[in-house]
Amino acid sequence: PKAAAAPATAKALVPGVRAIVAVASGKGGVGKSTTSVNLALGMKANGLRVGLLDADIYGPSMPRMMAITGKPNSADGKMLQPMENYGVKVMSMGFLVAEDTPMIWRGPMVQSALQQMLRDVAWGELDVLVVDLPPGTGDAQLTMAQQVPLAGAVIVSTPQDIALLDARKGLNMFRRVDVPVLGIVENMSYFCCPNCGHRTDIFSHGGAKREAESLGMEFLGEIPLDIAIRETSDDGQPIVMSQPDSEHAKVYRRIAARV
Ligand code: ADP
Repeated sequence: PKAAAAPATAKALVPGVRAIVAVASGKGGVGKSTTSVNLALGMKANGLRVGLLDADIYGPSMPRMMAITGKPNSADGKMLQPMENYGVKVMSMGFLVAEDTPMIWRGPMVQSALQQMLRDVAWGELDVLVVDLPPGTGDAQLTMAQQVPLAGAVIVSTPQDIALLDARKGLNMFRRVDVPVLGIVENMSYFCCPNCGHRTDIFSHGGAKREAESLGMEFLGEIPLDIAIRETSDDGQPIVMSQPDSEHAKVYRRIAARV
């Protein structure tokens, strides 16, 4: 609802952080976290000072993808030091609770956890803080959009119509709360057989581009389905960092430069 949108002045800035960019998706499993991590590392490779906030309270994936274990320290008992790897500062609920602990919180608790991970963390001077939102258009996204001074949002979608439909919902949500949508990334865009080179459009192809055009939005690029992307994420060695000369890394860096 329009009335739910907070006026811009109510959005307290996060000291030292020049821009906050959210990465969102209409539904889960489309590669939003994979994209967030590789975009953050791409921005870092492009020379920016970057932080990464894992706002997926219920299913944090940054500790694994960024290969970070341990707990954040607090020098003064008030502000938490972010964790850091590959030159990117990271905060995630995954650092604060045991991996097998289910988060059974309701909306208000999620909102206050997010606020704390934003404002009670000593992020230092950052050019950009990438926020990996949980999938969908629920509390966390609204909290972010309403209470965080977002510079904009990137939407990740597979080419499939159903995922696109959901992405469109996300898009409308950001528009309602006056957050500019910076563009759409099509993930799992196509598959090239590593043996014979034959290309298959497993989830169809080009849907996100068409959708972006029809909505008058920027199409940021397409990332293929490739086992190297999955394996490097699972190993905590995201492809932009571990295979910087690969085609995939170049595409991520190009998208990072446009965001
Ligand atoms: P989400 O954050 O949208 O739930 P994830 O980033 O966790 O999705 O990705 C879901 C799964 O798909 C993970 O196992 C991830 O490694 C894999 N994946 C994501 N993007 C790609 C890709 N382009 N190629 C291969 N695997 C991918």
